[in-house]
Amino acid sequence: MAPLVIYKRIPPDDYDLIQRLLKFVNLGQIEWQNQVYKLFQDHPYVMKVSLEDGKTVSCLMLPHWQIRPEDGVQPFVNDQAEIRRVLTLVISRKRSDLTDATRLISDKLGEKIKGNYRPGMVRTTARRADMTVLFQPVLDGVEACLWYPLFLIFQHGIDKLIRRCGVTLRSGIFCGKFFLYTPTFRKYCNTRHTELGYKQLRRRTFEQWINKQRDALGRKPIKWGSRSRSK
Ligand SMILES: [Zn+2]
Repeated sequence: MAPLVIYKRIPPDDYDLIQRLLKFVNLGQIEWQNQVYKLFQDHPYVMKVSLEDGKTVSCLMLPHWQIRPEDGVQPFVNDQAEIRRVLTLVISRKRSDLTDATRLISDKLGEKIKGNYRPGMVRTTARRADMTVLFQPVLDGVEACLWYPLFLIFQHGIDKLIRRCGVTLRSGIFCGKFFLYTPTFRKYCNTRHTELGYKQLRRRTFEQWINKQRDALGRKPIKWGSRSRSK
């Protein structure tokens, strides 16, 4: 299925960074710091540092740009929880939640990557006098890599297309993965979860329908309870 037109209008590097952020947010378990650095280190917006031998490397790969090894993965686990909270606010559709989310994002951006933009490209049109100067961000740490794509989601007007998978898995746990809406994946994050999700939805609708009928007859509703949700 072709991506939505709106995604094609987004500069590929911006779109890629948003997808990397969603990957980070959906990581089931962060086991080591490198897992997170690797997710972002080769993105073109990440700051490059020149070494003495003339080579340039991503700043995320240099120890003094990284968080202390003894801090383990906890700072990233905290970041993940915070970003999940922001995305939940974005999804909620409540105006006040959205305001909270955008305020949080702009505060964080101001704090994390303020002054770290550099002009990326100057575009002029010959016939008319309008000029555009595009600034390419320089992301100088994991936090900048996490908060900048949140801003991009709003900048490109796709905040309403963020979805959270609502399927209940075999283990009884809610999937909860965040993803971008596509015509193929509207409510659930992948093909398997889509099949399972619609099955669960049909069953819930049926159960509610049965109880509505019973209610009309003055009978007590059936408590469907938590029988296996795996099928
Ligand atoms: Zn899912």
